[in-house]
Amino acid sequence: MFHYSNQDLYCENVPLADIARQAGTPAYVYSSAIILENYRAYDEALGALPHTVCYAVKANSSLGILALLAKAGAGFDIVSGGELYRVMRAGGDPAKVVFSGVGKTAGEVDYALESGIHMFNCESEPELALIDALAARRGVKAGFAIRVNPDVDASTHPYISTGLREHKFGIDIADAEAVYERARDLPNLTAEGVSCHIGSQLMDTNPILEATERVLALVERLRAKGFAIGQIDLGGGLGVAYQAHEQAPEIRGFVAQVRARLEGRGLRVTIEPGRSIVGRAGVLLTRVLYRKKSAEKEFVVVDAAMNDLIRPSLYRSHHEIIPLRKTGRPEIVADVVGPVCETGDFLARGRNMANAAPGDYLAVETAGAYGFVQSSNYNSRPRAPEILVEGDTFRTIRARETYADLVRGEVK
Ligand SMILES: *Cc1c(COP(=O)(O)O)cnc(C)c1O
Repeated sequence: MFHYSNQDLYCENVPLADIARQAGTPAYVYSSAIILENYRAYDEALGALPHTVCYAVKANSSLGILALLAKAGAGFDIVSGGELYRVMRAGGDPAKVVFSGVGKTAGEVDYALESGIHMFNCESEPELALIDALAARRGVKAGFAIRVNPDVDASTHPYISTGLREHKFGIDIADAEAVYERARDLPNLTAEGVSCHIGSQLMDTNPILEATERVLALVERLRAKGFAIGQIDLGGGLGVAYQAHEQAPEIRGFVAQVRARLEGRGLRVTIEPGRSIVGRAGVLLTRVLYRKKSAEKEFVVVDAAMNDLIRPSLYRSHHEIIPLRKTGRPEIVADVVGPVCETGDFLARGRNMANAAPGDYLAVETAGAYGFVQSSNYNSRPRAPEILVEGDTFRTIRARETYADLVRGEVK
């Protein structure tokens, strides 16, 4: 849905240069069609199996994106009270919300109980005790799943791998039965499910399938002990292609394999995809400010920086950078850098790319997930606007910040 027509790059039916001129740069642009297609791929492939696709809000939490998915019927996976607030502001149904995360505060748990979320994915015994106490105070029963750590290696970047014993996440699957047993003594909790999430940007789905097998075996052991486990949550984590030559797992094919393992077991399945729904739906538009050459290197200085998109600096991740208008000029090899005062401020290094001149626009691809949400005001740079394309039209779903926004809440 991002494609060239003649020499111009389009998002759906809108030339991206039109958006860049109207909204200015840097700016995030998202294709609603891609987001909906990816959501439906999960939803349709799960078919008749009872399921909820809970979009992982942290990947991209803009109200416009959440509203789009809520309207399509999505549930949501949240990791904070702020994300729950966003989901409800966007019109999401709290009854389809699962609350994950290793450090839920009492305030957040109470807010979630008050809102009537579907389930807590719990990561420690003290957390179970806290939820039980707060549920008692409200006179309600809270459903929970224990997020188990299945000890499988997701083979992804170490910062986003979560399923090994050494990681802070979840409860060791070997200890899980004992934890469920002890939780029987917590009268305001009901053990409803088992959950896991082994990491993000998984290009090989075998570890997820292996984790599924281990969680299913645990479900059977728990049932044998009298727990009425009716739900399984397999987390998110499917990778997307960041580089032109990469082959990402195909959503429908992957889900078919999961479904084959779950059919006929009397389980409702939740999956929590984030990146694979929004990642390829977004680009970051930027404009070339200067060209600069040192003895060693060629630099393309652009108006987007690490504060707008930190993934290259933080994870060394590769994002393709393509021109909004193709020219016949031969390619160059350059570093694409922003205005922030850090050597770590780069979007690409030693990249074969279009010979872009000052004033030309570029698109940083696959920026829809963990892009804007990780942006900051570092160097007192107002955060970029977010624009949603729907067919022939586009609208701003988050305005560019102003200088006044930069000091909001501050006193001198
Ligand atoms: C981050 C996260 C997800 C989403 O991961 P993606 O790689 O974006 O699909 C799902 N579940 C939990 C618990 C998470 O922390």
